[in-house]
Amino acid sequence: MDKLIKTISKDGHFRAYALEATETVSEAQKRHQTWASSTVALGRTLIAAQMLAANQKGDDTITVRVQSNGAITMMIAVADTHGNVKGYIKEPNVDYKRGSTGEVLVGDLVGQGWFSVVKDMGLKTPYTGQTPLISGEIGEDLAYYLTTSEQTPSAVGLNVLLNEDETVKVAGGFLVQVMPDAPEAEIAAFETRIQQMPAISKLLRSHDQSKAILDAIYGQDQYKILDTSPLAFRCDCSKARFAASIQGLGKTEINTLITENHGAEVICQFCQTAYHFSETDLKELLKHDH
Ligand SMILES: [Zn+2]
Repeated sequence: MDKLIKTISKDGHFRAYALEATETVSEAQKRHQTWASSTVALGRTLIAAQMLAANQKGDDTITVRVQSNGAITMMIAVADTHGNVKGYIKEPNVDYKRGSTGEVLVGDLVGQGWFSVVKDMGLKTPYTGQTPLISGEIGEDLAYYLTTSEQTPSAVGLNVLLNEDETVKVAGGFLVQVMPDAPEAEIAAFETRIQQMPAISKLLRSHDQSKAILDAIYGQDQYKILDTSPLAFRCDCSKARFAASIQGLGKTEINTLITENHGAEVICQFCQTAYHFSETDLKELLKHDH
């Protein structure tokens, strides 16, 4: 099962999250029928949203939106604080381009654009932040967003590795953040260690990926596990929710659906679940017009 492990260094100056997200990305791949590069790009975006949600509390939700001029064009991932994430990719059929290590590269296919984050914390106006994409590889874009837009120096490593048949082999990553009271010398030492860490794609191949990631992050330093919680691709859509949006179309539009289409089918953009509304269902919606 996918999981999120939250840790803090013994001195409390750094915190690190390790995420195992293989099933999350695999589920997204199946639901959206994505091709290799789209699988990796969407998977990384889902993991980025899970990382940001790990910093939130209560019923907050995080929406990550990647908009760009490359072949991928647009991706959205929405995560909550209970480990659920859902996602959408506008171009699911972008094919791959592999680097010398066999990894699927996505930066060129994402291209230039924006990394936007919307935090809905139940207030009237959600918080929004936006930074330009610096590489389109998502992990670096997230680190840049956190460091510049949220002024929290952060290091991010995340990736999705595929099998020969292009199904998801392994997915996951880490987020390291410097706490406000960390002394400069310690930050410098930590940064050096992060830079010298093995590549995330290598760590993800380890038998116990979270332990390999955390050991590489902390080196000889001791750390404490604060919490371990499940992660999953899970959509919160329902027939009732789509019924409400159909009602929002108004009586004339619903009558047209009844007389011309004899029903309606709505597909959730985030999970591809199809909801069918029969003529009877639609007539029922007309009765409960509000
Ligand atoms: Zn859905």
